[in-house]
Amino acid sequence: MALVIRYRCHTCGAHVDSAGQITWVRCGHCRALVGYDWQAWFESQEYAEWLRRYPEIAPGFTDFQKEVDAAREAAREGLMDEAESCLRRAVDRAMGLTPQHYPPEVHQDPAYRQRYIRYDAWLRLQWMVDPTISALDTEVQAVCRGLNMGDPLPTLEKLLELTRRQLSRLATLPGAEDPDGMPPRSRTQVALSCLVSAYLPMLTPEQRLSVLRAIHGVNNVREVEGASLDEVSLYFDWQCPRCQLFSFQGRGATAVICPGCLCKAPVPAELTALSTLSTRCGSCGHSVTISQGEMEVPCGICGAIVRRIARTGSVERDHIFEAIARSGYELPRLPEEGVPGVAVTPENRLELVLMGLARQANWYARLIQPSRYVEVVRRSLPELGDTARAARLERVAQLSAAEHGDEAARKLLEQTRALLLRTASATRLPG
Ligand SMILES: [Zn+2]
Ligand SMILES: [Zn+2]
Ligand SMILES: [Zn+2]
Repeated sequence: MALVIRYRCHTCGAHVDSAGQITWVRCGHCRALVGYDWQAWFESQEYAEWLRRYPEIAPGFTDFQKEVDAAREAAREGLMDEAESCLRRAVDRAMGLTPQHYPPEVHQDPAYRQRYIRYDAWLRLQWMVDPTISALDTEVQAVCRGLNMGDPLPTLEKLLELTRRQLSRLATLPGAEDPDGMPPRSRTQVALSCLVSAYLPMLTPEQRLSVLRAIHGVNNVREVEGASLDEVSLYFDWQCPRCQLFSFQGRGATAVICPGCLCKAPVPAELTALSTLSTRCGSCGHSVTISQGEMEVPCGICGAIVRRIARTGSVERDHIFEAIARSGYELPRLPEEGVPGVAVTPENRLELVLMGLARQANWYARLIQPSRYVEVVRRSLPELGDTARAARLERVAQLSAAEHGDEAARKLLEQTRALLLRTASATRLPG
């Protein structure tokens, strides 16, 4: 399952007809910013470059923090001009430290850069000195601390609401000069799209669809069946060729390891490449195909850009291989067919699969939702119905406890069992 977005300009209504840049999406007609796609940043050459430069730029974060602290101190003493100039220095530095947070034009157009620095510094100052905004910000911090990665939607919804309130307060304050000349409503939409973008990998595909539709409009976000992979989540699913267990594998991992039989293999190419995606243009209905490996394509009829939301982890993986090569260490090359773990026999296979499910409950209980785990259980035990799968989870719970599974793992298994029994009773014929 994959998601595609057709971007439409909220300022002038035009399509986005040329992307040019990956993370920040601009209207092809009026140049307003229309969206932010954080997943695309992780797929970009700019991100690869940033990872390479990171050791060099990292000390800059301390200097950034010093400037922000100095600004806060000055603001406390009522020296607003001084606070603002500290913040301008901080923002200027941040543009190099975290380039993904700023439209790429700030590195090409000096006048735009100055406008953006003035705007961002002003914004940060309001966050420090305006009582309404900073009170809301205290709430934002508290909500973020309460984030449950296994069920992040309530946190995200609360954050969206608080951010909306902060931004509408901001719009009433004098002194704002939007660097793109965008009205507050459009700026708000971009800010919310940044916020949502960071949470997408943690959401289920259904939640992702509804959150994105709430930001970009119902007709602009489309779900595409047929793509075999969930292209956004933190983990991709991998089936072990030896014991048949399905398992979660980290996006940027350098190898896949089966939590059941413990075999190890190179990451299969089909998991790290973006598959071909056939969909329709959200604007004119014409069919469009996003080719393998491509993030977006313009509609052949109306020119609207249709873009997938995806993340393969390839940039991180290449970076790790590169860093290892630079260190002079020879990474033992895994043969294409992998290296076996515990020998799998018809007698021990089921127990290995159940062990694999137990370990995954222990490792991922705080990171995934039960609806995601239940799919791994179903696919790993395809020969059973849901009632029989629920019964097997008792053994999984024993194995989980034996491997020091904690309260979160116990709860995940209990919720999964309940989900399986609910669907089992719902599909039973009446009478
Ligand atoms: Zn426009
Ligand atoms: Zn296995
Ligand atoms: Zn079209």
